[in-house]
Amino acid sequence: MADDRSISIKTPEEIKIMREAGKILAEIVRELKGSLKSGVTTREIDQKAEELIKAYHVEPAFKGYRGFPGCVCLSVNEEVVHGIPGGRVLKDGDIASLDIGIIYNHYFSDMAITVGIGSVKKELQKLIEVTAESLNQGIGQARVNNQLSDISHAVQKHVEANHFSVVREFVGHGIGKCLHEEPEIPNFGPPHKGPVLKEGMVFAIEPMVNLGKSPTKILDDGWTVVTEDGKPSAHFEQTIAIWEDGPEILTK
Ligand code: MG
Repeated sequence: MADDRSISIKTPEEIKIMREAGKILAEIVRELKGSLKSGVTTREIDQKAEELIKAYHVEPAFKGYRGFPGCVCLSVNEEVVHGIPGGRVLKDGDIASLDIGIIYNHYFSDMAITVGIGSVKKELQKLIEVTAESLNQGIGQARVNNQLSDISHAVQKHVEANHFSVVREFVGHGIGKCLHEEPEIPNFGPPHKGPVLKEGMVFAIEPMVNLGKSPTKILDDGWTVVTEDGKPSAHFEQTIAIWEDGPEILTK
């Protein structure tokens, strides 16, 4: 786990820029959410994302990142994260995760949501709710003088209390002038371990939660992560800043 000296501390001026970035990103996500409908292909949503990114005069953070072809990751049902936008058509009863990052004034912002398409089964609605709640539980631990794994532990505890499982192979991360900065933020682990949290740290916390078992695998496209058991998975992410008096969600 990262040594706390390697975690960058942002100045209030930097966080102000990241707050503006987060606000724009949240607005883009809000508009894209309306496009997540039955009959739409994931490529069409990516095209809409590209238009919105242009309209807001920001840059896509994912497009070209290690060769990723889209502005968004769209991961449907058994796809956990890093789904490549393409010909897959969303249909009634699916759940779709939309993950998107932007660059604004040299700073990154990162956010993900999962939505049900049309009417989804109760257990999937519950999976979405619990994943969103587990993110809030994690954010609630992002406090000065807590330790990094307090975030991880809070996520895991909430997920497992609801009989779902957390993905272990992919993690949240620090964020700033780079998309992925120190530290890595797992969604599991014992409490009170790792670096002590300080004012000015900015994190992207992102629980990935599976309906079935935890293990995942990567498809032959080199990107798409799917559950090994083929059961659905949900994902939520917010970019947050830590202040003396508590966490602030920047992607809001
Ligand atoms: Mg992220």
